[in-house]
Amino acid sequence: MPDTHAPVEVGLHGVTKRFSDQVAVDGVDLNVHEGEFFSVLGPSGCGKTTLLRMIAGFADPDEGRIELDGVDMVGVPPYRRDVNTVFQSYALFPHMSVWDNVAYGVKRKGVRGAELKKAVGEHLELVRLAQFAKRRPTQLSGGQQQRVAIARALAAGPRLLLLDEPLGALDAVLRKELQIELMRIQREVGTTFLYVTHDQEEALVLSHRIAVMNAGKLEQVGYPEDVYERPATRFVAGFIGTSNILAATVSGADGSWVELDSPGVTRLRAALQRDVRRGQRVEATVRPEKVHLYDENEQAPSGWCELTGVVRDVVYTGVSTQYVVDLPGGGELVAFAQNTRRVDDAGSPGQPVRMAWDPEYTVLLEKSTDD
Ligand code: ATP
Repeated sequence: MPDTHAPVEVGLHGVTKRFSDQVAVDGVDLNVHEGEFFSVLGPSGCGKTTLLRMIAGFADPDEGRIELDGVDMVGVPPYRRDVNTVFQSYALFPHMSVWDNVAYGVKRKGVRGAELKKAVGEHLELVRLAQFAKRRPTQLSGGQQQRVAIARALAAGPRLLLLDEPLGALDAVLRKELQIELMRIQREVGTTFLYVTHDQEEALVLSHRIAVMNAGKLEQVGYPEDVYERPATRFVAGFIGTSNILAATVSGADGSWVELDSPGVTRLRAALQRDVRRGQRVEATVRPEKVHLYDENEQAPSGWCELTGVVRDVVYTGVSTQYVVDLPGGGELVAFAQNTRRVDDAGSPGQPVRMAWDPEYTVLLEKSTDD
């Protein structure tokens, strides 16, 4: 296993960056733990690259502090930060062999001779490209070129590796393969990885934790299960996976449950996750795979959220079948039924259907309409 440097902790405090009148990064506070595989996930233009460039030292924030292990980095040039970046475009030197590409950053640190050979050899092994050491980058596939870029970035011994959409140029099959490779590589070297992507599935698969970014701000920071199962905002609920959003009014609370009124929904309740008051307008979400379909005459388990609607669309997607159901009060609810589950003919368009889910899976969004 290659020698590595102690991984670093990253602290962002009120980091803001403007381009003329546009705020690209807006007061971002974030702590990335040492040795963590951390992803910043958000749509194109939300400020992810600008955030990475500031951490790398290619740009300075207009406001706020960027700390590595508690030391303020603002004004410290990139080469003195112990930080390296892997880009979507690989950025390899085309005239150099794979070996020379990987050796480049190590040599710049003044390492020569046996130590240089060891560092390059170990990093080529790490990315499983030892047999391609003599080739030029153009003689490699896109996936192999990206592995060289990763080896090159890690061989110089950074304490933090920034990865800006590194798999963005690869096809879906290769992406999946390299995702697994990246997880293994990060586990082996233990370096802190800060990964930027707009691909929600990629972030869920790879990361120890995720920050979801929208319009320069962080909407939620949490473990993959947190951001998926308990989205904090409407944006997070909609950006990660598919979500049903139900507008509702709080009608009461009993102990650990909040009872809600929502047009067309027979019964809607959620676990008490935050302070609410009777009459407050809120938004609740439920993931489609949590919603079960029943024949109109069947009973759903008691205490479950429940409604009756009319099937509008049935879409077979292989793993599951997607049902879009019109609610009596207007609006729709989507349910995914695993194709291992028998749903009989619950799903013909035009048929009434009962939908129900365990209230544990109803999530109250943090920003409600009159907060
Ligand atoms: P993508 O995934 O498309 O790369 P991103 O989330 O990385 O997007 P940024 O590249 O950080 O987003 O850009 C954030 C916003 O700042 C965008 O609206 C972009 O147009 C703007 N921006 C970025 N760099 C500059 C610049 N050098 N000058 C002016 N505006 C910029």
